[in-house]
Amino acid sequence: MSMELFYELNYRQLVQWLAARGERRYRADQVFQWVYHRGVTDFTQMTNVPSPLRQALAAQFTLTWPRIMKSTGQPTTKHLLEYPDGVRVECVSIPMDSYYTFCLSSQVGCAMGCRFCASAQGGLQRNLTAGEIVGQALAVQRLIGRPRNLVFMGMGEPLANLDNVVTAIKRLTDTHILGLSPRHITVSTAGLVPGIYRLADMDLRVELAVSLNAVTDSQRRELMPGAARWSIAQLLAACRYFTQKTEGQPVTFEYVLMAGINDSLEEADRLARLVGDLRHHVNLIPFNPVNHADFRRPTPKHVEQFCTQLRHQGINASVRYSKGTEVAAACGQLRVDVDS
Ligand code: SF4
Repeated sequence: MSMELFYELNYRQLVQWLAARGERRYRADQVFQWVYHRGVTDFTQMTNVPSPLRQALAAQFTLTWPRIMKSTGQPTTKHLLEYPDGVRVECVSIPMDSYYTFCLSSQVGCAMGCRFCASAQGGLQRNLTAGEIVGQALAVQRLIGRPRNLVFMGMGEPLANLDNVVTAIKRLTDTHILGLSPRHITVSTAGLVPGIYRLADMDLRVELAVSLNAVTDSQRRELMPGAARWSIAQLLAACRYFTQKTEGQPVTFEYVLMAGINDSLEEADRLARLVGDLRHHVNLIPFNPVNHADFRRPTPKHVEQFCTQLRHQGINASVRYSKGTEVAAACGQLRVDVDS
């Protein structure tokens, strides 16, 4: 019989599984306590759970986490994780003032083909399941400590694996599991328009970030060929819908600044016109060098000029000098090092 990954279960499903064996609800609390609060990965260690029940759990479920193969960099750290079938993803832990943000991967590789992104270079291998995404957070939590914020900004396009990402978010926000606030979870998309509409309709209360990076459709096709299936107008209409459905939640627009590509002051003006009438925040991210990417980072002075140009037009803009460039862990830089 094939084993099921325990992290695929929610609390109600475990209660049902236990009830089918004549066990009471409080056993689910005990098991979840061991798994999610004490980080146990072996049912035999659950000493307040009767031995026959431990054996039944162990016969049906596995508590396997992805193995952390390597952690690089301080204080921002990139973790290379390997799942039991041998696929590898990366997850980044970023210390903020008094808490951690984890940047999670949602897929192994990515099919979107953004030209400036390291994750795009190997194509898509497969989606991660909800339980595998939860396992990723648990494995890094054990090493680093509990996160407060999660961003789906690692390897993969979360809206291309929406069902599993949403299930993982429901697990991670469940008070029986990690109990994180949905407001502290950001789903970042390259702009999969149907996925934005679906996410808006789900009433999850998570934050939405959209990687825009271009101000014309032709420029976007060049930089983000997978996402440019939809025009910028269609993308912004979906963002407007998201804000309406979420009672005014702003959308964060990520704009990776690449010298001579999308960083002229005329492009700043155009960007301001595009997003100005939406509830927005614009994050300007100076390009982080990656292997094989033929782009350059603008000078700090020019980045400031671009930002000021936006602000003069009422745009709520800030510059995010991504933490983690030193370990290739910043936005668009997650890629499994094959030599690791
Ligand atoms: S930027 Fe995001 S969507 Fe684009 S290729 Fe990289 S991981 Fe995929």
